[in-house]
Amino acid sequence: MLELLDICAGYGDTRVLREVSLWVPPRSVVALLGTNGAGKTTTLRVASGLLAPTSGRLLLGGQDLTGSPPHALARRGVCHVPEGRGVFPHLTVRDNILVQAAGGDVDEAVEKAVSAFPVLGRKIRQPAGSMSGGQQQMLALARAYVTSPAYVLLDEVSMGLAPVVVDEIFEFLGKLAGSGCALLLVEQYVTRALELADYVYLMNRGRIDFAGEPGELDSARLMEQYLGAQ
Ligand code: ATP
Repeated sequence: MLELLDICAGYGDTRVLREVSLWVPPRSVVALLGTNGAGKTTTLRVASGLLAPTSGRLLLGGQDLTGSPPHALARRGVCHVPEGRGVFPHLTVRDNILVQAAGGDVDEAVEKAVSAFPVLGRKIRQPAGSMSGGQQQMLALARAYVTSPAYVLLDEVSMGLAPVVVDEIFEFLGKLAGSGCALLLVEQYVTRALELADYVYLMNRGRIDFAGEPGELDSARLMEQYLGAQ
């Protein structure tokens, strides 16, 4: 279980998260939804060790990892796919995978990445930056996948992509979840996120103000208040 307990965090003097508690059980899909600026990205940064909380605790498998650096969490199976993808545009697709698979079998990693998104096989020697936005997002997801993570934190991975690409990405996320990997999903496509999710948190102004199963979220008022017109 990945646990955030009473987390407060921010940037300099700006307080963003206010006593956020959130649980991601192994093999579950948890959606974290909310308005722009609510603190969803900040929550993922805390969960992957990119941002140390000012108070509260981050636990993984019961072990207190508060203040641990990102690589310590990555080593324990927590993988963050950031907003904006985070691929290296000047490196080839293969080298992007190689960087992620450091220390492991590169050919095996490439094979695994291509099995997730076959288009990557056809672009394997091209600079990542020469691919379309959708293909770069597939590469970002494939890079996470090759590490066989236990928890993947996904920040708006469908943002700005064509509907057909979004379909492919959600199909992959479904398979990833089906393979036993837990997902913490920040997503603008609320309906799709809820289809996949076992559990949902709604965030507003740095606080969690709803936690429950997607089926409990049928209140039109909640949808309207937090999630806009979707
Ligand atoms: P969005 O959907 O717009 O990405 P979000 O829910 O992910 O929103 P965050 O990105 O976590 O929200 O931002 C929460 C608040 O923190 C916002 O008010 C934002 O302006 C502020 N913030 C985010 N990053 C920084 C930063 N590096 N320095 C200062 N303030 C920041």
